[in-house]
Amino acid sequence: MRLVLVGPPGAGKGTQAQFLAAHYSIPHIATGDIFRSNLKAGTSLGLEAKSFMDRGELVPDSVTNEMVKTRLLQDDLGNGFLLDGFPRNVLQAEVLRANLAEKLTPLTAVLELSIDNDEIITRLSSRRTCKECGLPTVNKEKCPNCGGDVYQREDDKVEVISRRLEVYQEQTAPIISFYRNEGLLITVSASGNVEEITMRAISALNRVS
Ligand code: ADP
Ligand code: ZN
Repeated sequence: MRLVLVGPPGAGKGTQAQFLAAHYSIPHIATGDIFRSNLKAGTSLGLEAKSFMDRGELVPDSVTNEMVKTRLLQDDLGNGFLLDGFPRNVLQAEVLRANLAEKLTPLTAVLELSIDNDEIITRLSSRRTCKECGLPTVNKEKCPNCGGDVYQREDDKVEVISRRLEVYQEQTAPIISFYRNEGLLITVSASGNVEEITMRAISALNRVS
């Protein structure tokens, strides 16, 4: 299963990605997580990404495409992979397509999580993120997954959320039609509880893979 997950910030990509990756035994590759762990480790990649991330803008394509290309060369992709947060614009989608075509491993499907704008803002502004495992939670104190401390991501502050939504509409939403034209798009509603959405996603994916 070679899967891309798309949807606006707050649609629950990270949460669903975790369950889907476990279900299909494939690595969860989240570009946002890779940037954040580089930032935490103080690498030059992290420093390069920081100012863009803090403003809710996309990190430049040259940086992001190279980083994903390197990740896709690792040898843990025998069962496939789940990309979360990449591609985020049409150029990235084209680079990914070319990169996978070269290896004769085209995408199996693109799963779109769809959700209303009002719900996004509520979800993101109350979201916290675990400092240890990186998973999102609504818990304001401790991570329910690993017990680590939680914090509010710089880009989950109200001022930055609206910019992220604009960036999504302007730059990321066009990849939905790109993938629809490729015949790869599957859309499921991202409202409801976490288990419900996972079930919806798995049954939709089982029809195509
Ligand atoms: P979200 O909750 O918005 O899905 P992510 O954790 O996926 O957040 O991404 C956080 C930030 O990391 C983005 O706002 C952007 O600055 C940067 N980023 C992540 N993936 C990409 C990408 N594919 N291209 C450019 N920038 C990216
Ligand atoms: Zn945790």
